[in-house]
Amino acid sequence: MNVYFDNAATTPLDPEVLDAMLPFLQNHYGNPSSIHGHGRKVRAAIENARKTIAHLINAAPAEIVFTSCGTEADNYAAFGSVRTLSLQHGITSKLEHHAVLHPMQALAKADDLELSYLRHDEQGRFDLEHLEELLVSSPRTFVSLMHANNEIGNLNDIAAISEICRQHQAVFHTDTVQTMGHYKHDVQQVPVDFLVGSAHKFHGPKGIGFLYRRSGQTVDALIYGGSQERNQRAGTENVYGIVGMAKALEIACRGMAEHQQHIQGLKDRFITKLQADIEGVAFNGTSAETGQSLYTVLSVSLPPSELNEMLLFNLDINHISVSGGSACTSGANAGSHVLSALGCDPDRGTIRFSMSKYNTAEEVDYAVEHLAKMYRKVTA
Ligand code: PLP
Repeated sequence: MNVYFDNAATTPLDPEVLDAMLPFLQNHYGNPSSIHGHGRKVRAAIENARKTIAHLINAAPAEIVFTSCGTEADNYAAFGSVRTLSLQHGITSKLEHHAVLHPMQALAKADDLELSYLRHDEQGRFDLEHLEELLVSSPRTFVSLMHANNEIGNLNDIAAISEICRQHQAVFHTDTVQTMGHYKHDVQQVPVDFLVGSAHKFHGPKGIGFLYRRSGQTVDALIYGGSQERNQRAGTENVYGIVGMAKALEIACRGMAEHQQHIQGLKDRFITKLQADIEGVAFNGTSAETGQSLYTVLSVSLPPSELNEMLLFNLDINHISVSGGSACTSGANAGSHVLSALGCDPDRGTIRFSMSKYNTAEEVDYAVEHLAKMYRKVTA
């Protein structure tokens, strides 16, 4: 068996998405900025994709800007807001992905942005009273707090956070890379100023993402050049990526309830079997709490052992692909700023199982069986 449980890093392309993309790789090659027929056809496809994505998150098409990935969209929101509006205070958390943490830290260094980190408890739950305290003393603030954590799976209450930000006239950006396509987003219901999507996290292609930017939020471009994306993001568009991303989001939203039920079932099975088969197993953050964590992610904490570092390798040689923390940091606990911020015991091993609609109960059983076998060997 060849098992892939690293869907928080990236997901396999849905064949229906590939079918939607192929004509734009094979036949429709016009440059969307060209005014002739070849160009106009491609321009129409881009604008249809924009409408589809906007409709799925209840936004207006003009509020969607295509980017090369989630990282670029996060950077655009942070640099664009802070610099265009000359904001002097930024609030984020130590649990954010580097796509947010590093631009915020770069802004603090280069632009004298005062940076505050929101407090959280040892399970990674944000302290929203602290957010209020920080905002009361400093209203002109850029707040960036993620919807769900890619390593431990914690789900944060962005409706409550956006309400607090609104009361204090703060600009609110939320990194929704791990929830786009897996949870319903409605920007009319939840008044965020910016949110993001990255197609490869919901069975779309790599190298394409988008930023939702609430109308009225003026931000300078991140990339200068041609007038693409209404002068907001220069460069010839990744046409097949854009078409594929819209198709992938459409499929994800269409089957969301069914996929959620299937994947949550796999996650519950993982938890039950791991608890039965491995003594001392625990779960990081709120990972094992239904409704408080991504149904797609389970972050497993294994008891201290000299051989913990070899767990990922051992699973790999049994054709089971998993991650230790986030894909952007290599190795196990050592590379994870999230696990360190939670104060996790560095001697414990961490494995992140992240699931998709394509995983099966047999794959869960196979992975747990191998892990338990290794672990028994390791601890014997
Ligand atoms: N934000 C989060 C929470 C992520 O999990 C990731 C990718 O793992 C990113 C941002 C970056 O997205 P991309 O790979 O599209 O640049």
